[in-house]
Amino acid sequence: IFTDDSLLASNKKQENLNVLLITIDTIRPDRLSCYSTKYLQTPRIDALAEKGAVFDRAFAHNPLTLPSHVNILLGTTPLYHGVHENSFSIVAEDFLTLAEYLKGKGYATGAFIGAFPLDSRFGLAQGFDVYDESYPSKSSNVFVFPERKAEKVIESAIDWIGKLDSKWFTWIHIWDPHSPYLPPDSFLLKFKDDLYSGEVAYVDSELGKFFDYLEKSNLAGNTLIVLTGDHGEALEEHGESTHGYFAYNSTLWVPLIIAGPGIEQTRVDEYVSHTDIFPTLCDVLGIEKPSFLQGISLLPLLRGKKIKNRVIYFESLLAFYHSGWAPLRGFIEEKVKFIDSPLPEFYNLEDDFDEEENLVQEINLERYQKRMKELIETYSSLQRPESAF
Ligand SMILES: [Zn+2]
Repeated sequence: IFTDDSLLASNKKQENLNVLLITIDTIRPDRLSCYSTKYLQTPRIDALAEKGAVFDRAFAHNPLTLPSHVNILLGTTPLYHGVHENSFSIVAEDFLTLAEYLKGKGYATGAFIGAFPLDSRFGLAQGFDVYDESYPSKSSNVFVFPERKAEKVIESAIDWIGKLDSKWFTWIHIWDPHSPYLPPDSFLLKFKDDLYSGEVAYVDSELGKFFDYLEKSNLAGNTLIVLTGDHGEALEEHGESTHGYFAYNSTLWVPLIIAGPGIEQTRVDEYVSHTDIFPTLCDVLGIEKPSFLQGISLLPLLRGKKIKNRVIYFESLLAFYHSGWAPLRGFIEEKVKFIDSPLPEFYNLEDDFDEEENLVQEINLERYQKRMKELIETYSSLQRPESAF
């Protein structure tokens, strides 16, 4: 039931699909109404969710922009690729990125970036024919990253797609929900008491325009869409205002929606992670999975089958590298979460997804610490590919 050749065979005809990867920065799943209707309505993302697979429990491996996107685009954890934070880390040339891999399969590849943390200087442009990072070169405020709005990112992507006559892989990075929360005027009044949600409402509306373009251009029926976020936002939960320091679900839990030809409408409650996206795309497209990938294909889940229990590694090392804090790492396995630090934490996520009750006194701590060590060794020891494209 784990890798089913007949599932793969039925996907052979999918190899000519376009692939659209949408990463929304700093997005909490509970701000999308396909996950929770408590805060706002996101009708356009809901419409995507209604025709595809929605993963209720998807996790980032890092609560930080650059490492998280590297995890997605390399299909590996930071223990393998070494990008643990946002400022001095660079993706090494010898890694094989999803863009390089799909380019090798005949895809035109384009990335449309919303803000500086994913600037090409950090190495993620590998494999992209076009890496559009035309946000302003400087921000007017030194505490704010240079950025551009969703409408500009999407406009550039549409402009590029419109000129292509081959299959394509397009990645759009939407920065808007990242602080400072400043939704456009048309959303300000309605969301004046919850500007973060206002940013999400704006993003939903702009993505809707992109989806309309795909429909109008007869591309929707031939395009596989993966929508996720790079990390969440704490919004004062667990004493954190934004993201990047702790490793609670406020910032590690992300949306994941996969929709397109051959994807049935389904709702998945299995625990999955960012590194699963690369192998899943390979399986859906009917192409071979590179051997170094550290996630698992979610194709069985897309087909209503089960996957075996697996472990999801996570870390939050910004403060370790920049402020001399103790390293903070952990893992999720069999629906419990262990956070390894000088003050270890343990949560039963099925009963306590918000991590309010630390049960570390009730576990065999040594066993979990040993498991942590094993995981770090396993994930760190994989060989790099012999040669990238
Ligand atoms: Zn981010």
